[in-house]
Amino acid sequence: MAAAAGSSFRNGAHRSSLRVDNNGRPLSMNQNPKSSLKTKALQGSGTRKSSPAALGGGSAGSLKDDGGVPGRVRVAVRLRPRNAEELVADADFGDCVELQPEVKRLKLRKNNWDSDTYEFDEVFTDSASQKRVYEIVAKPVVESVLEGYNGTIMAYGQTGTGKTYTLGKLGEEDAATRGIMVRAMEDILADVSLESDSVHVSYLQLYMETIQDLLDPHSDNISIVEDPKTGDVSLPGASSVEIRDHQTFLELLRLGEAHRFAANTKLNTESSRSHAVLMVHVRRSVKDSALSSVSSSSNPHTSKVLRPPVVRKGKLVIVDLAGSERIDKSGSEGHALEEAKSINLSLSALGKCINSLAENHSHVPFRDSKLTRLLRDSFGGTARTSLLITIGPSTRHRGETASTIMFGQRAMKVENMLKLKEEFDYKSLSRRLEIQLDKLIAENERQQKYFEENIERIHSEAQTEILEVEAKYACTLEAERLKYQKEYTESIKKLEEQLVMNQQKLGNGKITTTANDASSPLNPSSSSTLASALQEVANLKKLLERETSLRKAAEEEISVLRSQLSQSTISEASRNNEILNLRNMLEDESRQKEKLEGEIAVLQSHLLQLSSDADETRRQLDNGGSINGHCGLDSLISQMKNQQLIDPGNGEKASMAKLFEQVGLHKILSLLEAEDADIRIHAVKVVANLAAEEANQQKIVEAGGLTSLLMLLRSSDDETVHRVAAGAIANLAMNETNQELIMVQGGIRLLSLTAANAKDPQTLRMVAGAIANLCGNDKLQTKLRGEGGIKAFLGMVRCGHPDVLAQVARGIANFAKCESRASSQGVKKGRSLLIEDGALPWIVQNANNEASPIRRHIELALCHLAQHEVNARDMILGGALWELVRISRDCSREDIRTLAYRSLTSSPAFQSELRRLRIEF
Ligand code: ADP
Ligand code: MG
Repeated sequence: MAAAAGSSFRNGAHRSSLRVDNNGRPLSMNQNPKSSLKTKALQGSGTRKSSPAALGGGSAGSLKDDGGVPGRVRVAVRLRPRNAEELVADADFGDCVELQPEVKRLKLRKNNWDSDTYEFDEVFTDSASQKRVYEIVAKPVVESVLEGYNGTIMAYGQTGTGKTYTLGKLGEEDAATRGIMVRAMEDILADVSLESDSVHVSYLQLYMETIQDLLDPHSDNISIVEDPKTGDVSLPGASSVEIRDHQTFLELLRLGEAHRFAANTKLNTESSRSHAVLMVHVRRSVKDSALSSVSSSSNPHTSKVLRPPVVRKGKLVIVDLAGSERIDKSGSEGHALEEAKSINLSLSALGKCINSLAENHSHVPFRDSKLTRLLRDSFGGTARTSLLITIGPSTRHRGETASTIMFGQRAMKVENMLKLKEEFDYKSLSRRLEIQLDKLIAENERQQKYFEENIERIHSEAQTEILEVEAKYACTLEAERLKYQKEYTESIKKLEEQLVMNQQKLGNGKITTTANDASSPLNPSSSSTLASALQEVANLKKLLERETSLRKAAEEEISVLRSQLSQSTISEASRNNEILNLRNMLEDESRQKEKLEGEIAVLQSHLLQLSSDADETRRQLDNGGSINGHCGLDSLISQMKNQQLIDPGNGEKASMAKLFEQVGLHKILSLLEAEDADIRIHAVKVVANLAAEEANQQKIVEAGGLTSLLMLLRSSDDETVHRVAAGAIANLAMNETNQELIMVQGGIRLLSLTAANAKDPQTLRMVAGAIANLCGNDKLQTKLRGEGGIKAFLGMVRCGHPDVLAQVARGIANFAKCESRASSQGVKKGRSLLIEDGALPWIVQNANNEASPIRRHIELALCHLAQHEVNARDMILGGALWELVRISRDCSREDIRTLAYRSLTSSPAFQSELRRLRIEF
C-alpha cells in the first residue's frame, strides 16, 4: 500500500524519483523546495500572477484557445488538534502521525518503532492558522478562478477531523477562524467590478445520489447536465443567487446550513453523511484579451463596435465531502445500509476514478456516481484542483487516517489540463449594436429634417432673388429702350431740321445765282456759296452716316436685350399673366366706379329731394302752419324719447308702421343728422328697427338710409349710436345689393374703425355680424380682404366674448366657403387669404371651442380650407391636421365629418403626413 502510494510523485511536468529506505519504506526525494503551492502562497500575498503556470509546477504552456496548461491536483494534509475527549482518553498515547512541515512530510506510525513517510504539497500541523491554510490551499485556486479558469477545493477525511471547520466556518465570534468559503468570497468580491462583472452562488447537498438545493429546499432532485462539447458540468435546476456584498453571502451560507440541518433531521441522518457543494460562478468582462486581439487581427477592418466583448467565466467549486470512514465500514442494516451503500457509492467511485487517473487507465468511471459526475472537471479535467485531507491525531483511528493519507497520495498523481474559459459575449454585442442602430436612426431622421428645411429655405430665397433680378432687369431694359428711342428721335429731328435749312439755303443760292448771271457769270460769291453748300451736304452725309451707325448699334443692343429678354420667357409670361389679371381687376374696378357714380347720382337726387322737403318743412314750421306729418313726427320723437321703440313688440310694430306712413321715411332719416344728440340716438334706433324688417330694407337704402348710417359711424362719438347703426347695417348687409353698396361706400373701413374704438362687446358683435354677412358674397372676397376685413376680425377676437367669437367664426366660415368655391372654379389661385392674413392660428385654437356655434363654424371653415392642396402645408404646420382628424372622427354632424374625411383622404400632403406620423386612416 505504501509502495503504491509513494511509487511515483509528479509535480507538474517534473517526475520525481523515489528513494526507498533500508526498510523498503518509500521516501520521496523530491523535496521540491519551490513547491508551487508554497511558492504561490508567497506570491499570493503580494502581486497577482496572470499565468496559471505557478500552480502547474512551473511548466507554463502557451495560452491557446484549445490548448491548456498542465497542472497536477495539489494535495495538502491538515492535522486537527486533539479535542477534549482525546486529551483525556489518549493522554498517555502519542499521535499516530508525526509531521515534518519544513520538508512537507508526514510520518504515519505503524508501531512504536516503525513508520511510513509520505510527502505532500503542504503539511499543516495542528497549530496551523485558518489564514495560512486558506492562503496556501485555496487562494491560488480562487485567483485562477478570477482569471477565467475552473477551480475546485475539497476536503476529504474522517468525520470530525475538521473538514467543515476548514471550509465552512463563518468565524462570526472569532474572525481568525473564518474558513475557506468565507475568505474566498472576500477575495472574489474585492477583485471583481460590480459594474461589469457578476458573481452567482449555488449551494447544494448530495445525499444518497440525489442533489438537493440548500437555498431552496423544495428542489430536492436536481439533475446534472454535461455540455458534450466542452465537458462543462452545470446544474440548471439549482437556484443561483447573485452576490453583490459579503453580508448577503454570509446570510446565504447560514440559510444553507439551516436547510442542511433541517433536511438531515427529516432524513434521520447527520450532515457528515452528505456532501455539501458550494458553487461560485464568476463572470468578468475582459478588455485586453488574447481572444479579442485574435479577432481584431484576423479582420483589421472590424470596427470596435462590431467586436463582441470577451467574457471570462470562472467556476469555483468547494466541496465538503462526507466522512470518509464509511467507505470501509459494513454491517449496517436497512436505511443505514442503503445510505452506506450510497455514500460508499459516491466516495468509492471518486476513489476509483482517482486510481484510474493516477494509473493512466484509458477508462475512468466518472459516470458511476453523481459525485464523480459533478467533480469530473476537478479530477483529470480542466480545473485547478486543491484537495485538503484532514486527519485526527488519535491512534484509535489509525486505519481511517491511513486510508485518508493513501487517498491523498493517489490524488497527487492526477494531472489536470487547465483551460481558460474565455468566450465572446455575442448577446451584449447585439444589445450594444441595437442601441447604436437606434441612435443612428434618430440622428438620420434629424439630419433629414434639417436638410429638407434647408432646401425649402434656399428654394424660397432663390425665388425672391429671381423675382428681384427680373424686376430690375425689366426696369433697366425699359430705361435703355426709352433712352435710345429718345436719342433716335432727336437725331432724326436734327437731321430733318438741317435738311430743311440746307434746302432753304440751296433755294436762296439759286435765286442769287440767277439774278447775278448777266452781269457776272463767274461771280466768286455765288461759287463760294455753292462750295459751302456742298461742304454742308458732305457734312450732313457724314452726320447721317454717324447717326445710321449709332442707330445700328442701338438696334443691335436692343436685339441683344431682346434675346436676353426671351431667355426669361417663363417669368415674362407670368408677368404678362399678372398684367392681364391686373387689367381685369382694373376693369372690375372701373365698372364698380361707374356703378358707384350711378348710385351717387341717385343719392344726390335723393339728397336734393330731402333738402327740398326739409326746406319745405322748415318753411311751414317757420310759418307756424301745420303739416300733414307734423303731429306724427312730434309723436314719433316723443315715442322715441320714451324708448318705446327699442325691440318693439307686435303692438309697437304696428304703431311704428303707422308712424312710418304718417311721417315718411325721408323725415325719419333726416333726424339722423339732428343736432340734438338724443334725437339722433332715437332716430338711429328707429331706423335700426325698421331695417330689421326685410320689407323696409330696400326703401331705407333707396332713401339714403345706408349712407346716413355709415356716416354716423364716421361722425358720431357715441358708442350707442355706433352699436345701433352697426346693427342696422348688419341687417341691411343681408341683401346682396346692399353688400356691394356697403363695400363701395368704404363700409369695411368704417366698421373696422368702429370695432377698434368699441368698448362694448355688443358693438363688436354688431360690427362682426355686419362683416360676417359681407364675407358671404363671392364677388367681394378680394376687396373685403384688401380693405382689412379679415384683420378686423382678428382684432375683434381679443375681447373673447362668445357672441363676438360666434360672429367672427361665422364670417370666417362664410369667407372660407366662398374662397373654396372660387378656387374650385379656377377663379382664385394661391393660398387662402385667411391664411395669408394670419387667421389660421385662431382658427386652429378655436376648432374645438366648447361653444357649439363657434365650433361648428370653425369646423366648416377648416374643411373648406382643407379642400385645396395649396393650403395643406400651412395647415399641417399650424396643427390643423390634428383638428381635421378629430373632426373626421368625432364631429356630431355627419356632413361635416364626411367633408373632413374626404379632404383628408384626397390630399396627398395630408396623406403623406399621416403616414409619417403613422396614423391609421
Ligand atoms: P468534519 O469536517 O469531519 O465534520 P468538523 O469540522 O465538524 O469535522 O470538526 C469537528 C470538531 O473539531 C469541531 O468541533 C471543530 O470545531 C473542531 N476542529 C476541527 N478542526 C479544528 C482545528 N484545526 N482547530 C480547532 N478546532 C478544530
Ligand atoms: Mg463536517
